[in-house]
Amino acid sequence: MITPKAKAGSSIKTKTGDWKNQFPEINSEKCIKCGICQSICPEGILGKKGEVPKPDLNYCKGCGLCASICPVKAIEMKRVDSDE
Ligand code: SF4
Ligand code: SF4
Repeated sequence: MITPKAKAGSSIKTKTGDWKNQFPEINSEKCIKCGICQSICPEGILGKKGEVPKPDLNYCKGCGLCASICPVKAIEMKRVDSDE
């Protein structure tokens, strides 16, 4: 039987629910749409290259890789309980 190819970040098993402790906030004015964060995100949940990333927070693990790789510091990791 042929199994359909799974979409990145689409498995219920990889849903983070409430347990991640931080999440990325994208500054769309700073973003130069280079696509690096979209390439490196282990969950593949930052949308298409060439567009401002739109993280699907249902699947984000809060690892911070996207923020650490962004060449123009357009991604800031925010604590889930942060009011800022
Ligand atoms: S924090 Fe990690 S899982 Fe979440 S969008 Fe960034 S790279 Fe992907
Ligand atoms: S790495 Fe930074 S500049 Fe490049 S697409 Fe992601 S947010 Fe935008």
